[in-house]
Amino acid sequence: MPIYEYNCEKCDKKFEILIMGSDKPECPCCGNVKVNRLMSSCGFVSKGSGGETVSSTAGASSCTGCSSTNCSSCGV
Ligand SMILES: [Zn+2]
Repeated sequence: MPIYEYNCEKCDKKFEILIMGSDKPECPCCGNVKVNRLMSSCGFVSKGSGGETVSSTAGASSCTGCSSTNCSSCGV
């Protein structure tokens, strides 16, 4: 399913839209059809979202039964 990213010429809003067949993209904000297609990276915007926060929480909670941060070694 091709999801494209567009930029509305009228209200300058960026939006992603799924284009099926001969569908014409239009701005979800103002309904304008004069939109510019942007080069989107596969339609995903999940890049750079919280990779570092996950590792910080994992290191904070250590096992109470041992000094290891990974309880798979002590079975707790
Ligand atoms: Zn618009």
